Amino acid sequence: MTNLTIEDTETYLRQLASELTDPRPGECLLCYVYRMLEHGCRGLRWALRYRDQRAPRATALERRLGQVGGYCDCEIFMNGYDLRSAYLGEPGGYAVYNGVLRRERPYPNPMPGCLGVGRGSTRPCGLWARRPRGGYLG
Ligand SMILES: [Zn+2]
Ligand SMILES: [Zn+2]
Repeated sequence: MTNLTIEDTETYLRQLASELTDPRPGECLLCYVYRMLEHGCRGLRWALRYRDQRAPRATALERRLGQVGGYCDCEIFMNGYDLRSAYLGEPGGYAVYNGVLRRERPYPNPMPGCLGVGRGSTRPCGLWARRPRGGYLG
């Protein structure tokens, strides 16, 4: 390989990586962050990437996510928001939440498509509902 080819390849890979991790047109914050969590959770990396690309004026986003217990991307889902039950999968195994044994309803795979939000919004689309205060009540 010549140097030129290597550079071309690197540019191509960088573009590809950025396309893979960019919010889709109309995609809401939560659908985007959930989709990106397959690349791992490192703080609010994905939520802030969404903010920077889609809603740069949402300067209070970090504070608002912290208010629902979302101090990192995965905590947004553990503490803050849950998929509405209409969209959850069939009950599978059992799991204990807050000392209560309940049947797990897994997130479907693939996830339903984002219902969409307007540009500049950091609101979740209609797939998501706030978790009740004090934890998981199903
Ligand atoms: Zn996390
Ligand atoms: Zn969505």
